[in-house]
Amino acid sequence: MSASNHASAFVLPATDADGRKNLVGLSREELEAEMLSIGLEKFRARQLWHWLYHRGSTDFAEMTTLAKPVREKLADAYIVARPTVVKDLKSADGTRKWLLRMPDGQEVESVHIPEEDRGTLCVSSQVGCTLTCRFCHTGTQRLVRNLDSAEIVAQVMLARDMLGEWPAPPDGRMLSNIVMMGMGEPLFNYDNVAKALKIVMDGDGISISKRRITLSTSGVVPMMERCGQELNVNLAVSLHAVTDELRDIIMPINRKYPLRELMEACRNYPGLSNARRITFEYVMLKGINDTPADARALVKLLEGVPAKINLIPFNEWPGAPYERSTAKAIQVFGDIVNNAGYASPVRTPRGEDIMAACGQLKSASLRLTAAERAAIANVIAEKDAALAS
Ligand code: SAH
Ligand code: SF4
Repeated sequence: MSASNHASAFVLPATDADGRKNLVGLSREELEAEMLSIGLEKFRARQLWHWLYHRGSTDFAEMTTLAKPVREKLADAYIVARPTVVKDLKSADGTRKWLLRMPDGQEVESVHIPEEDRGTLCVSSQVGCTLTCRFCHTGTQRLVRNLDSAEIVAQVMLARDMLGEWPAPPDGRMLSNIVMMGMGEPLFNYDNVAKALKIVMDGDGISISKRRITLSTSGVVPMMERCGQELNVNLAVSLHAVTDELRDIIMPINRKYPLRELMEACRNYPGLSNARRITFEYVMLKGINDTPADARALVKLLEGVPAKINLIPFNEWPGAPYERSTAKAIQVFGDIVNNAGYASPVRTPRGEDIMAACGQLKSASLRLTAAERAAIANVIAEKDAALAS
């Protein structure tokens, strides 16, 4: 298995039907090269960056700091594309979910979770996921492809469109934080994720700082250090089990990168301190990983790692093989972890009425037939075989 790209190779069409190229998702250097390629000066790239990523403009005619002939030249050669919004769902608790269609017809979801004076966008990195964590609905999807940098940045830009935050206010933004916790394993699509996050972090544009970005990984050990060195964003690790025996079953990636290697990579994650901890996500599965003994083993496993623990009540989906732990079990588990000195907030499920919770994205709201269950079992078996090879 190649750690950087396990999904099928896929190249989006480089141009639209009129032969115009999308400017979203290009690095500053690439944008400069584009300007030179159509006979414009390099500094035009800086002006464009401001319009694209600070003002959120999609229409060259609006870009009034550029002379009219320049705007016309740009409009002939380029577009500033957004994905098509197929669904825009709003939960009773304010959570919003957007189903976005990409030019090849593939769909991904982003979720916005508002809080008092801030808000977090949950961004997808792949269509589907090559891994098959047993509790995660995304793992049951057959189709998998990487999103390119444009498609990742576009999720953030589209959320800003929908929230009316161009240009974004310096304080009290409703899109203030980003979590790479949507569909897909971001460290299997590292190059595109890195390129996109560099654009998102750029202070002259979207300007969301690395302190407000969290990347969640199932534990792609060989990519973790590079992620820390190059992006230095906050890291979240989906742990979910404290023994290899259980983790091998519920998270097949553990067979490649077992707990000892994962914990070693966590200890070595660049820039860790008490003020900057790794978040360990732990989904609470009834009767599977939620006993007091599991909690004590978790505390022991995390020894020496600056850590926070995020307890996630399992979000059930049709056909899921597990149930959510009882409130009592979650509380007892959380108390043990807290008493050991770790912050361990229980994640409040948000947006449940629009199926916007973790691991439920794009899941059907209907009961499954026996044939559908068998089809899911097949997908899991196929992907597991691919992982093992
Ligand atoms: N692939 C990455 C990021 C996406 S998943 C990863 O696995 O970390 C984001 C988080 O939601 C992970 O911690 C994942 O384990 C968790 N999750 C998946 N399905 C879930 C479910 N049904 N209920 C609760 N959490 C779930
Ligand atoms: Fe993929 Fe993460 Fe879901 Fe596992 S939990 S199947 S790695 S998206």
